[in-house]
Amino acid sequence: MSRGLVSIVGAGPGDPELITVKALKRIQSADVIMYDRLVNDQLLAEAREGALRIYCGKAPGLHSMSQEMIGRMLAAHAAEGKQVVRLKGGDPFIFGRGGEEALVLAEAGIAFEIIPGITSAVGTSASSLIPLTHRGVASSFACVTGTGSDGSVSSVRWDLLAHSVDTLVIYMGISQLPQIQHELLHHGKSGHTPAALIERGTTSEERIITGTLAELHSLALLHQVNNPALIMVGESVLIREQLLQMQQAANASMTG
Ligand code: SAH
Repeated sequence: MSRGLVSIVGAGPGDPELITVKALKRIQSADVIMYDRLVNDQLLAEAREGALRIYCGKAPGLHSMSQEMIGRMLAAHAAEGKQVVRLKGGDPFIFGRGGEEALVLAEAGIAFEIIPGITSAVGTSASSLIPLTHRGVASSFACVTGTGSDGSVSSVRWDLLAHSVDTLVIYMGISQLPQIQHELLHHGKSGHTPAALIERGTTSEERIITGTLAELHSLALLHQVNNPALIMVGESVLIREQLLQMQQAANASMTG
């Protein structure tokens, strides 16, 4: 009897081409795919015709399938000898609950593997032309959540982040933007620090809004920024402006 396997797979940040070869192969050979909200439909279209596709996404604040239920279903399908893919946006181990699901499987004695994906911070850094590190400008970056498990502003050490990290990338931060902005300013980060909001990064609907830390909340309101979106704070946001200007000059000299 063939044994089942659960592959916990990162689907990448949005652009369906930003997936690993290994992840795509697993999708193509899966018997069952349990997928999240942020997974691109074009990737699901890669599945075999007879494959079972199960949606288990959560809209912010709403839970369509409990974490416990997801774990139990993954284990049940694998126990029947199926090849199961648990497909998640970005990387499964970065704010993706991949670790929790792997623990459930391990406890149940089910074989599993983790296939990484390009996390949205890395995907949107490229698409927005905001390098996470840049010689002389940024030697460190941190990825943090803006929302805590109780739904209010995250209890990360904003005091330390304000001073010890060059490029700060905040996931799940849009609903907590006023508090996040307040925490960073209150702990002494300059209001002039360049900052960006990136909505639906790497997709055809991507929007990139830049300004300063002090302006972030009003920019988000003005442009009605919605999830999924990332907040980036740091001097390397200015590299984007430089690159864009040079790109424009290069294009102008080609046409002119
Ligand atoms: N595991 C995912 C993150 C899941 S948490 C990863 O590695 O990227 C969900 C948060 O990720 C969203 O609230 C948003 O902050 C961010 N996110 C995911 N996809 C995004 C995208 N295409 N553009 C901007 N932010 C994105």
